[in-house]
Amino acid sequence: MKCVFCEIVEGRSPASVIFQDEALMAFMALRPTAPGECLVIPKRHVDHFTDLDDEMAQRIMLVAQRIGRRLRAEFKPLRVGMLVHGFGVAHAHLVLVPQLGPHHLTSDRFASIRDGRIVFNEGAIPVAQRAVLDDHARRLAIV
Ligand SMILES: [Zn+2]
Repeated sequence: MKCVFCEIVEGRSPASVIFQDEALMAFMALRPTAPGECLVIPKRHVDHFTDLDDEMAQRIMLVAQRIGRRLRAEFKPLRVGMLVHGFGVAHAHLVLVPQLGPHHLTSDRFASIRDGRIVFNEGAIPVAQRAVLDDHARRLAIV
C-alpha cells in the first residue's frame, strides 16, 4: 500500500527533509502546531508503529533524539515532546513537537472540547510556506 509519506520517500511529493539514510527519513510537518514540528518515518511502508522491528524502532528514536536536541537549540521550546499515534497518515511516524506549554502535544491548536467531546479541526492550522519549512529543515539538520 502506498500513501503520501511513501510519495515523499519516492520523491514524488515535496517535503522539507531534515535527514535521511537508506532506511528512514525526517522532514518538517506541513501543518506544524509550532515552528520546528517534524516527523521521523521508516522509508518502508508500515502502517502500525507497533509493527516496526526493534532495530527500526530504535533508529527512529535515536534520530528523533538528535533532531530534538537541535530543536531545543534552535527554537527554544519549553520541552520537546514525542508522539506516536495512528491517525492522519497510516504510515508509522514519530512526531517531534516543540512544546510551548504543558498542554501542547500536537493537538492543542487543532483540538478543542465542545459539549464534552473532543473536536478535531486540522484545517485550523495553516499549511506552512515551503521556504519557511526548508529553512527550518536546514536549522535542524543533523550529520
Ligand atoms: Zn506509506
